[in-house]
Amino acid sequence: MFFFDPMYFVFALPALVFALYATWKVRSTYGKYAQVANATGLTGADTARRLLDVAGLYNVRIERVPGELTDHYDPRGKVLRLSDSNYSSYSVAAIGVTAHEVGHAIQDATAYAPMRLRQGFVPVAGIGSNLGYILFIIGLFTQLTGLATIGLILFSGAAVFAAVTLPVEFNASSRAMALLDQNGLVTPQDHGMARKVLDAAALTYVAGLAQALAQVLYFAFLLSGMRRSED
Ligand SMILES: [Zn+2]
Repeated sequence: MFFFDPMYFVFALPALVFALYATWKVRSTYGKYAQVANATGLTGADTARRLLDVAGLYNVRIERVPGELTDHYDPRGKVLRLSDSNYSSYSVAAIGVTAHEVGHAIQDATAYAPMRLRQGFVPVAGIGSNLGYILFIIGLFTQLTGLATIGLILFSGAAVFAAVTLPVEFNASSRAMALLDQNGLVTPQDHGMARKVLDAAALTYVAGLAQALAQVLYFAFLLSGMRRSED
């Protein structure tokens, strides 16, 4: 009954549609501006090294990783990893994404509070939400409201994590645009195009939060049904 509950779709469908739209939006925007050469003639890797050095982050290494949009900054290893499609690309999209990852490296170096919070939350959110999910399902089938409530609270960790991710990502993108401007790496036209790529990427994090919240709300709805049947 649980897996075929039509109410599940009432909660999950809007967020799913939004997530699909966000994925399409980032792919198409990135795809478009990955074809446009940037005005500096610098690759993603060149841009990363230049911006990291300007920030005094000589210790941060740059590595190449396979895939598309797999770019990320690793705060533990102090490594900025650029995807195949950005590492040696001269595109506007490549320098935009690269500057965003440098933004994360600067957040790390300056102990930016939301990033610290997010880092601290990684293990808690992972274990909490998986355990919470299991406890909730057990609570639901055994009609133990208390257990289901604990499960729901733990499970909400995933949504809190998705919420904490937002300021970290938005801040990295605004740092990225400032870095590109201050270092003369973008013309006004390139600025606009890089911004579009980063805005599209940000949308996927908003969609992630919407999906996590939809799941929590659906579970809360099931829990309220259990409570009502108890009365
Ligand atoms: Zn990011």
